[in-house]
Amino acid sequence: MELVESNKGKQLLCFRGFQYSQHSTKGEKLYWRCVERKVCNARCHTNADLNNLRMLKDGTDGHINHEADHRAIEARKVMRGVKRAAEEHPNEPPQRTKSHHHQLLRTAVGAVTDPEVRARLPERNTMRRVINLHQNRGRPRNPRELQDIVLDAPYTTTRRGTRFLLFDSV
Ligand SMILES: [Zn+2]
Repeated sequence: MELVESNKGKQLLCFRGFQYSQHSTKGEKLYWRCVERKVCNARCHTNADLNNLRMLKDGTDGHINHEADHRAIEARKVMRGVKRAAEEHPNEPPQRTKSHHHQLLRTAVGAVTDPEVRARLPERNTMRRVINLHQNRGRPRNPRELQDIVLDAPYTTTRRGTRFLLFDSV
């Protein structure tokens, strides 16, 4: 049993090749339901400690209309690598974003040898959205003090390389 992240950043519970999203919580229990909930009504319960999860009611037998898919879970883990790479390389200038996506994808996705795992990775547009989101997370936050502002090259140069932000005042 383990947790992986959805493309939108929600935690998903993985158990025996099935994925569950958190549905509700009651006391010390978490209630999860199958991510394929349009076609499947399977549910399970765990304790509420995400760092030390225990299955309290196994829903494995309740899945209908789809099979366990361990490779889909592997693909989630590949995406974790893509997100991490995006957060670690947030400062590529926008005009080079496309090639930068390429690099990020090549690094994380190129290492995937199983074509069945590759086939379960998100569509290209979803990939882009996820990468953008996590590049934004890797960028500096709103500073608290004016002296905290340090502008890096990608933010102070224009497309042609000339400096446009010479002085910034509030
Ligand atoms: Zn199911």
